[in-house]
Amino acid sequence: MSKAVRHLRLAIQQRRILQTAAAILLSGGIIVGSATAQTLALIPDRVIDGRTDEAREGAVVLVEGEQITAVADRSEVPAGATAIELPGTTLMPGMINAHEHPLMYASDYQNAHLQGSSARKALMGLAGAQKHLLAGWTSIRVVGDADVYYAAQDLRKVIDDGIFLGPRLSGAGHYLSITGGGGDVNFLSPEQHVIADGLVVDGPEEIRKAVRREIKYGSDWIKLLVTGAFQSVGDNPRNIAFSPEELRAAVEEANRHGVPVAAHAHAAEGIKQAVEAGVRSIEHGTFIDAEAARMMAKRGTFLVPTIYVGDYYAVTGDLLAQEKNDDYMKNDRANFLAAIGRAHKAGVKITVGIDLGGYGVDPTVFAREFAILHEAGMTPMEAIQAGTRVNAELLQWDDRLGTIESGKLADIIAVEGNPLDDLSALEEVSFVMIGGKVVKRPGRTESLSGLLISAPQ
Ligand SMILES: [Zn+2]
Repeated sequence: MSKAVRHLRLAIQQRRILQTAAAILLSGGIIVGSATAQTLALIPDRVIDGRTDEAREGAVVLVEGEQITAVADRSEVPAGATAIELPGTTLMPGMINAHEHPLMYASDYQNAHLQGSSARKALMGLAGAQKHLLAGWTSIRVVGDADVYYAAQDLRKVIDDGIFLGPRLSGAGHYLSITGGGGDVNFLSPEQHVIADGLVVDGPEEIRKAVRREIKYGSDWIKLLVTGAFQSVGDNPRNIAFSPEELRAAVEEANRHGVPVAAHAHAAEGIKQAVEAGVRSIEHGTFIDAEAARMMAKRGTFLVPTIYVGDYYAVTGDLLAQEKNDDYMKNDRANFLAAIGRAHKAGVKITVGIDLGGYGVDPTVFAREFAILHEAGMTPMEAIQAGTRVNAELLQWDDRLGTIESGKLADIIAVEGNPLDDLSALEEVSFVMIGGKVVKRPGRTESLSGLLISAPQ
């Protein structure tokens, strides 16, 4: 063995020791991710696997390395496995947040965008994403973020590279908006020139260029503001922003690169035009009607209704466009819930997205979205599947995530009690595992903010 090779081997060994030490520190004494694959047996009261419609009482989940190897009976736990007892809990797949903006660090997000540098947003976004993870959200789809650069994609890189611990990220760098639309800054005088929170584009050519630029810098989704929005200033959610020609250009260009499109759309006609153009998901869909639901069911378009965000901000005075939110709460929320129930019955795939941003909001409340989906007519099990298996399908990660079954990545959480009896149990996540690593255990709340878990590979 040459000196150089010996030196390299020594360096690799030292790094493994450091990584194992970091894993032990993180998991409170349980060795995970070490070189010798060890079997962990997670022992809750029951398991919801995200796939079957019944919880399995008394089942255990076996994990080896980063993967789930079996859902078994307690008597089948192999000798030598390390048992993690989780009495009084229900084990389920990690929750997936299909609609988020990790860089929006304050409720007044448009001013926060103008005041915060991209670097500040990245740091705040990392802290917010780690809080997300500890609250049981193991994956996030970024539906465009408020940033001049691509900090959300940088977040993804430092997490994927194992430099920082955080949830899995996917998504778009920006939301594409027309001039004067929901992604433009519409409250400054014409003399002022700022770079808006969204990516402002007009006409098919600008859209194609923007789509290419988004993909160049790491977006694996394209996000379009097809209609006006509720939280921005100076635009109307009942109006359609992009023309059908612009929509077609966006979807065609994105799909040519194998990238799916998420369409923010409230007005029914905007939803229909977006579905017609071939988007993969409709975000919000507040004024969805029977025809739009039929079209979505037929084409398999997902609906990410993001209902709780409106409740959270009701009459708070926190929003720049507070009156639009309050008007919706008074006049439209009840109709929206009924429409979601009808769309679900019509076969539209409903999913869980939160839209409460990054650092500013305590993420334990995000799980209230599940209870509202139940209020809209889904069973508790259907709501849980919407935020796990169906979301994994939306993200095209269903080959490795979204359910607890052999061969899937071990993104697993335990909640106190039984969420099938009371969905607020999802707000009390006491155990979190991501890719086989334990990051939270009952009775401990480690802060992961800024934690360096290993050297870059
Ligand atoms: Zn949003």
